[in-house]
Amino acid sequence: MKKLYKALLLKKLLVLKELGVEYIEPIEEFKENKLELPDNIEELRKIVLNCHLCDLSKSRKRVVFGEGNIKSNLMFVGEAPGASEDEIGRPFVGRAGQLLTKMIENVLNIPRSSVYITNVVKCRPPNNRTPTKEEALSCKPYLLKEIEIVKPKLIVALGSTAYYYLTGDKTPISQVRGHIIDMKSYKLIATYHPSYLLRNPSAKKEAYKDLLLIKEFLGL
Ligand code: SF4
Repeated sequence: MKKLYKALLLKKLLVLKELGVEYIEPIEEFKENKLELPDNIEELRKIVLNCHLCDLSKSRKRVVFGEGNIKSNLMFVGEAPGASEDEIGRPFVGRAGQLLTKMIENVLNIPRSSVYITNVVKCRPPNNRTPTKEEALSCKPYLLKEIEIVKPKLIVALGSTAYYYLTGDKTPISQVRGHIIDMKSYKLIATYHPSYLLRNPSAKKEAYKDLLLIKEFLGL
């Protein structure tokens, strides 16, 4: 049944292409977590590494899937890969990533490898622009599946894009940070994205307080 549906969908897309349509809004099936995705992280990674669901697949060098301990209580979710991540194929390896690593290792006092780190979108948006809603919604099923597999006790939303796509709330990060929010199957705390902290070092004080709250919540 699924194969027939896909064949019909493909036929419809080819007809639209022949009619000169170059872009359509993301197909309803991809808007929410309705894709059938595996419960195994390696199988999920393989699917994501070959994904062409949105236009970011045209400009990316590498797909950047999440990494770390899939049994961790703690998951960090950023916005999107940057230039270094796109080159290397790993999340948070550039300057912002180095700061995140310091935050984890020097404040939480745990190795980076003990947490799980991922992004809302797995491919770099050109010129590091914010991912569009279509791109983020196309990629969201992968993030939801990562959350389902890892089952973290606490998710740290790094920056407003991660916070928005995890909660649907557009309140500025400066107003929501510093509070632990109940998301039913996990708790969530929003804090500043490390790249924001690099541009605005004065915000590091508040990010430090957020880390202390995370530490206290997880009993680290
Ligand atoms: S950003 Fe996500 S949905 Fe878009 S091509 Fe990359 S992996 Fe696929």
